[in-house]
Amino acid sequence: MTYSISGKTNIDWAAFEAELAPVETISEPVLVKKRSRDFFWYSPILNAQLRRSFGDLVAVPKSASEMAHCLRIAYKHDAPVVLRGGGTGNYGQAVPLDGGLIIETTSMNRVVEIGDGYVTAEAGANIEEVNKALHAQGWELAIFPSTQDIATIGGFIAGGSSGIGSVAQGMLRDPGNIISLKAMSVTDDPQERVFEGDDVNQIHHAWGLNGVITEVTLRTVPHRDWIGCMATFDDYAQTYAAGYALASAPDIARKLVSTVDARICEYFPRLKEHLRAGKHLMTSLVPAEDMGAYRSLISDQGGSVDLAMSEAELAEAKLPHVFEFAYNHTTLQVLKADRSATYLQIGCPTPPNPRAISDLRPKLGDDVWQHHEFALLDGQIVTFDLPIIWFSTEERLREIEATYEANGFPVYDAHVCMVEGGGLKNADYTHLAWKKRMDPKGLLNSAKSREWQNVAHLTAEEIEAMTPA
Ligand SMILES: Cc1cc2nc3c(=O)[nH]c(=O)nc-3n(C[C@H](O)[C@H](O)[C@H](O)COP(=O)(O)OP(=O)(O)OC[C@H]3O[C@@H](n4cnc5c(N)ncnc54)[C@H](O)[C@@H]3O)c2cc1C
Repeated sequence: MTYSISGKTNIDWAAFEAELAPVETISEPVLVKKRSRDFFWYSPILNAQLRRSFGDLVAVPKSASEMAHCLRIAYKHDAPVVLRGGGTGNYGQAVPLDGGLIIETTSMNRVVEIGDGYVTAEAGANIEEVNKALHAQGWELAIFPSTQDIATIGGFIAGGSSGIGSVAQGMLRDPGNIISLKAMSVTDDPQERVFEGDDVNQIHHAWGLNGVITEVTLRTVPHRDWIGCMATFDDYAQTYAAGYALASAPDIARKLVSTVDARICEYFPRLKEHLRAGKHLMTSLVPAEDMGAYRSLISDQGGSVDLAMSEAELAEAKLPHVFEFAYNHTTLQVLKADRSATYLQIGCPTPPNPRAISDLRPKLGDDVWQHHEFALLDGQIVTFDLPIIWFSTEERLREIEATYEANGFPVYDAHVCMVEGGGLKNADYTHLAWKKRMDPKGLLNSAKSREWQNVAHLTAEEIEAMTPA
């Protein structure tokens, strides 16, 4: 019998499922619907658009050859395909807008090799597990997302951009951070192709629409005894200035520098006994041997070190990793208490300028509570604002964005599910040319690219040639 959970495909999914054997499948509608979601609900705008978009069937391959089998069957039936790792993406990246087959990678999870300065893992490897395997051998990932407990390494490379470690190691796309990756084509005979050096960026952050990542090799750095630090300050601009001082200190290593408005800290109940009430917060990871210099820096900047605990001490105190109060986890902590919160993604003037931050604050309004992440971009310390927004209407949201823009803070739209919409403001024709080569029928997550519809009829070379000079 033909059935379609999505209501968008005309495929006999029972027969399709039978053809996928021996690959594990999930066809129970409740479970398929669950695996059709990611963290798009952070955005009330995306929530309204995406909450009723579902796939039709889930496949859970255990190896590259099982993955190839899934892709061969999808190609044969012209079935739309969306890859899914941990499902922690923010913009509906993993939502199957056209229905079809969801391929969950979490059973392709082997750590293949650990060597000096690198780790190779299958795409579905859980990032925390990769880090644990690395720690045992004296290494750690140079960069990982704050979602490491759930996210996969392939999902991070396909959907993410930066994370814990970026303040010292830069963005994922920077040379050497992704050493190589393997991506598989969606054809009648799926083939794996290796991308190395700068070529990794032909696949990285393309939201899985131009190839199925099966394996990645990432840069690792020597493991250090990181201390989770929380320092508090009276004034937000002062907190931001301290963040910049730490992010650029010559004598203190750091893996995380994040500053949060005092009003957001009210939504961190687990930290209540540990932080001074009503103060602005700077969260950092600093190695044990640099704690003396860190304490002096905080004191010089007029702050107070309220919490400094090793990973073991945090676990003993039943506290989460400190990075669960940074990056998009900050928004999550607020959303746990009140679903009317949402967020924006904003760039800031470089070099970081505390005066620009304090001048902007009164213009933003009481429904905007700032939160900055510090990172290294093109060799310079930069900051991103991921403010909490108390959502009232889309009109007000766009007005806040316009205030940021008018004051020299570029907006990266967090409320759009198109790859051209948020981080990548313009179409990436190199990504799309590789889509043409790796996915000639346009089955992979195609609904997430506006521009794909315009160029799908061209050759890969014609698409590549559209890259602006
Ligand atoms: C609370 C919170 C905190 C976050 N913090 C960070 C952060 O610190 N840094 C950061 O960069 N992001 C962050 N994110 C976004 C997201 O968590 C990361 O990008 C994460 O690494 C995605 O991994 P995942 O396995 O969950 O991917 P998914 O959400 O499953 O997938 C993400 C995208 O990649 C595609 N994809 C998945 N696997 C493959 C594959 N094998 N081949 C091809 N395409 C694939 C999917 O189709 C989708 O388009 C955060 C999100 C939340 C909700």
